[in-house]
Amino acid sequence: MRGAVLYGPRDVRFEERDAPKIVEPTDAVIRIALTCVCGSDLWPYRGFNAIPEPTPMGHEYCGIVEEVGRAVQSVKPGQFVIGSFATSDNTCPNCRYGYQSSCVHREFITRAQAPVLRVPLADGTLVPTPGVPSDDLLPSLLTTSDVLGTGWFAADAANVKPGSTVAVVGDGAVGLLGVLSAKQMGAERIIAMSRHEKRQKLARDFGATDIVIERGDEGGARIIDLTNGIGADSVLECVGTQESMMQAIHAARPGGWVGYVGVPHGVQLDGEELFFEHVHLHGGPAPVRKYLPKLIELVWGRKINPGKVFDLMLPLDQVAEGYRAMDERRAIKALLQP
Ligand SMILES: [Zn+2]
Ligand SMILES: [Zn+2]
Repeated sequence: MRGAVLYGPRDVRFEERDAPKIVEPTDAVIRIALTCVCGSDLWPYRGFNAIPEPTPMGHEYCGIVEEVGRAVQSVKPGQFVIGSFATSDNTCPNCRYGYQSSCVHREFITRAQAPVLRVPLADGTLVPTPGVPSDDLLPSLLTTSDVLGTGWFAADAANVKPGSTVAVVGDGAVGLLGVLSAKQMGAERIIAMSRHEKRQKLARDFGATDIVIERGDEGGARIIDLTNGIGADSVLECVGTQESMMQAIHAARPGGWVGYVGVPHGVQLDGEELFFEHVHLHGGPAPVRKYLPKLIELVWGRKINPGKVFDLMLPLDQVAEGYRAMDERRAIKALLQP
């Protein structure tokens, strides 16, 4: 079997790896229908996170169960399933509290840019769809595995409610699906920050009512302007840099909420500044497993079309081009077909 392996900065290879098999009785092995490149894959790709050795890549997946371990009860071979990038037993106190991405038995999926994948803790991690989906639903179903689940968590963590005014920092796939999520949660006004025409259009398709092209302090000031000098009720931080985090905190109204899902790189918060901002901060790796049943239902019923974030489709053996296109911002998100 061949899959994607990162060797170092901007060096992704598609090469022979061992085919996954059942290791633990709680495992499943699935044949991947579609996978993709994640914005978070770009951090190690760009050399921000040093990798000690060649590392298999990929953590967003959906596909057909091929084989299950003897302890697996809730999924069966032949079923179409979707799982999170973080495995979960779905029974421990953290899972029951709705934080499956902090499961005490959590492992991170790291080998999904491949035709076949081993998924540990299959019963608690994988959610079957109502049947085998038609091909046109596959991209949207794939988004529930991470990018939509993460955008949804950003909106949920930012306390988006019917009637809310929402600002979204970041026009990557997560930010765009944060817009979609806020819309689904009943936000009345959704301000998306983007200076990229294609992304602005998608943000509007997903429910954005205003677009802000300014960045940094100017961008924050523009949001304050647009909200009568007060700030947004809810701000979704979907980037993970110092600038984007501070912009999000400054754009929230006193008593408002910031949901942050961009993996932070070099973010430092000043205690005194935070103290006087009066905002709620809530974020982290999204508990995608919590949202999967609801998100699958929305996609299955064709109520939402989050698959529109994929603007590049490639056969899996061209995975390196998928990384390049996203790195150079030629593509919002690259879909990979084994
Ligand atoms: Zn991801
Ligand atoms: Zn757990």
